[in-house]
Amino acid sequence: MEVVDGPAPGHPEIYRVVADNPGPMTLTGTNTWLFGSDPCWVIDPGPDDSRHLAAVGEAIEERGGAAGALLTHSHNDHSGGCGRLGVDLAPVTDGRRFGRLTAVATPGHAIDHFCFFSDDGVCFSGDLILGWGSTYVPPDGGSLAAYIDSLRLVESLGPDLICPGHGPFVTDPAARISEYREHREARERGLIIALDRGERSRMALLDEVWSDVPGQLRPAAAVVMESHLQKLEAEGLLPPDLGE
Ligand SMILES: [Zn+2]
Repeated sequence: MEVVDGPAPGHPEIYRVVADNPGPMTLTGTNTWLFGSDPCWVIDPGPDDSRHLAAVGEAIEERGGAAGALLTHSHNDHSGGCGRLGVDLAPVTDGRRFGRLTAVATPGHAIDHFCFFSDDGVCFSGDLILGWGSTYVPPDGGSLAAYIDSLRLVESLGPDLICPGHGPFVTDPAARISEYREHREARERGLIIALDRGERSRMALLDEVWSDVPGQLRPAAAVVMESHLQKLEAEGLLPPDLGE
């Protein structure tokens, strides 16, 4: 699917600028979003990349300047360009309004993660929900239990369109969110089945439950597995004798 600079489907008030930082975690690169005009809000300025920041600056000019910049979370691929963009970062708290946007706390991928909802049902989801694939939930700073609660919260708000932090627009949010939840639940079920059978090796658990993950994403999968194990431990479902 093509991911290029331009307006959102059915929403000319939303404009995307894609950063040139593609990768296994950033997909086609970080999406920087401009919302509204005269002035616009900048959601995730993106990485500290001169060409990207110039493109964002130009798009801001075309929209009559910026009211401020909002961060879905502080990871560098979303926030690195903040300083050089020359737009003030607005402090974000749960429920706070920014023009026609409302901040919603959605921890999980990062402890400081927020989504922004427009009054007409568009969700800027940061790294909570991506354009494709599943998102990364690190055990340090993130929390799988919080992540799943955040998915449920966004699901309950019923967005019509998701503008993610990476990758293409999500035009079927309800289906995508339940797919995300089912994906996590399937991994958890896989772990519980293997643990019940007596498997105690982390390596073997990873091989079995994340067998579909390509080699380059294996280290990330190992970290995600730790998040799952932490969740099971908190729920009293983790055997004490787990090994490497
Ligand atoms: Zn990201």
